[in-house]
Amino acid sequence: MKYLDDYRDPALARGLARAIAAEVRPDRTYRLMEFCGGHTHAIVNQGLAHLLPDAVRLIHGPGCPVCVLPVGRLDMALALVRDHPEVILCTYGDMMRVPASGGETLQKARAAGADVRMVYSTLDALALARAHPDRPVVFLAIGFETTTPPTALLLTQARDAGLPNLSVFCNHVLTPPAIGAILGGAGEAKPLDGIIGPAHVSTVIGSEAYRAGAARFGVPVVIAGFEPLDILRAVLMLIRQINDGRAEVETEYTRAVRPDGNPKARALMEEVFILRASFEWRGLGALPDSALAIRDDFAAWDAERRFAMPPLTGRENPACECGSVLMGALDPRDCRLFGRGCTPERPQGACMVSAEGACAAAWTQGPSP
Ligand code: SF4
Repeated sequence: MKYLDDYRDPALARGLARAIAAEVRPDRTYRLMEFCGGHTHAIVNQGLAHLLPDAVRLIHGPGCPVCVLPVGRLDMALALVRDHPEVILCTYGDMMRVPASGGETLQKARAAGADVRMVYSTLDALALARAHPDRPVVFLAIGFETTTPPTALLLTQARDAGLPNLSVFCNHVLTPPAIGAILGGAGEAKPLDGIIGPAHVSTVIGSEAYRAGAARFGVPVVIAGFEPLDILRAVLMLIRQINDGRAEVETEYTRAVRPDGNPKARALMEEVFILRASFEWRGLGALPDSALAIRDDFAAWDAERRFAMPPLTGRENPACECGSVLMGALDPRDCRLFGRGCTPERPQGACMVSAEGACAAAWTQGPSP
């Protein structure tokens, strides 16, 4: 486990914890949001919050791809397989169990006879389309900038191969507008002192993508890797910036993130996608220029156009408080369904489905943090 153990050394972690404690000022608190669900998972699994002084509060953010997708978009996918039984709908595993309106899920639709399949990558979707040339295959695409380049590649592969039966239901969303909305007080968002920036997303979009937002809202961003020492070092870097009155973008995860990210991946995304004027996020509401649609050049492979899918608004489970959890406004344990009707085996909301969801992460810790 070389290269991983290097970032999990307990003695170094304790040293970083002491350095953080030494920097913390007694007259203030530090509210730091980890945007990414991968960080939430690492923080909870490694018990990192226990290493930090009480004045440092880590707040879970909305960076879990299945969590932020609003119910209406899932309802659209369910309507597609209901109205078009000839369709093979494929998507990543977590999407299968996310509740839509009325508690419906893709898993239940499959049990009722719809042809819904789990894939591990866009290559699986491509293989499905090739294996079933007589049937339409729709890839339900979700995720932030990490999973967007593979979807863009899939669309160019479909075009280059002249695959007429493959299409994509595009639900890709963008990180910087969401961070900006949170810092601007959208939804139930509370003021923050710093952002732990996402790792994988930043390998694609680069650290420069956050600079305008950090400057506009006067809040520092430190991009961190997923290992315990990465996260603790990012906390230390944030606290030093906050104490100095700086609001800069710094990269702790220098072994993978460059200022301009991955130019090839960005060019591919630019070739295939265009900004949506507005997109609804669970918890954040409708945000302008925060999601991607498929360009006209690829209209033949756009499921929304091919099947004339009408936009649906959806009905959230009124007892589920995912929206507040995603904004860091509610601790998952304070939801009245947490562990009482909502568990990873029987999720009532999206935040309990994926390992990256704040409710699922909290569940792994037990009833108290
Ligand atoms: Fe929703 Fe379950 Fe989380 Fe409550 S515990 S907010 S019902 S996902």
